[in-house]
Amino acid sequence: MPRIFGRRRPTTYLLGEPVSDWPAYAPESERGKALRITEIGEPVLHTPARPVTEFGTPELSRLVDDMFATMDVAEGVGLAAPQVGVDLRVFVYDLTDDAGDRHLGAVVNPVIEVDDDAEPVTEDEGCLSVPGAYAPLERPGAVTLRGVDLRGAPVQLTATGYLARCYIHETQHLDGVLYWDHLTAEQQQDALRQRDKQRADVLANRREIAIELGKRPPEYPKDPAGGR
Ligand code: ZN
Repeated sequence: MPRIFGRRRPTTYLLGEPVSDWPAYAPESERGKALRITEIGEPVLHTPARPVTEFGTPELSRLVDDMFATMDVAEGVGLAAPQVGVDLRVFVYDLTDDAGDRHLGAVVNPVIEVDDDAEPVTEDEGCLSVPGAYAPLERPGAVTLRGVDLRGAPVQLTATGYLARCYIHETQHLDGVLYWDHLTAEQQQDALRQRDKQRADVLANRREIAIELGKRPPEYPKDPAGGR
């Protein structure tokens, strides 16, 4: 790990492998379209997604490009395929961890294994499909994530803290489970109230960023498509 005058330079990890000079917006994001993000109550978010069985296809690459673009337009750190209306077991992520290092990639058919020795961590959590709402949620402190990449090659990633939380959140999306499902009834009502207050501003912000990034802004209905 290079140290310059006592300061460690942040590292970027692409699917766990260190890379140098990665652009602020991933190449996938540059190529992709910004799609509408599905919202709580839409069936695709509440149904287990199907495993990917064909790898290295243009369709899978296009899906991942569009997911990166959609995540970046929404200023998200992770996005699962059901959030763009696709019932396949794929998620993308791009986040800076507690130590300042950046982690990004696309994982296909992920499986989470919780490290039971790690202390659980409670932090505020939100979801692009419940725009504008946050609630404290306890998550395991460390996990191992196994899956494959776009070509079907095995991927194994370990994570703690915020990155572990992201892997868990996105993998659960593929089982039709939202962070919202883990909240108490009272917290769920509060989250929907926050959403009702914030949604228009959040969607206006997505529109602005899409235009800044040279993308056609996604169209959202006036009221949440999920009807909640
Ligand atoms: Zn989410």
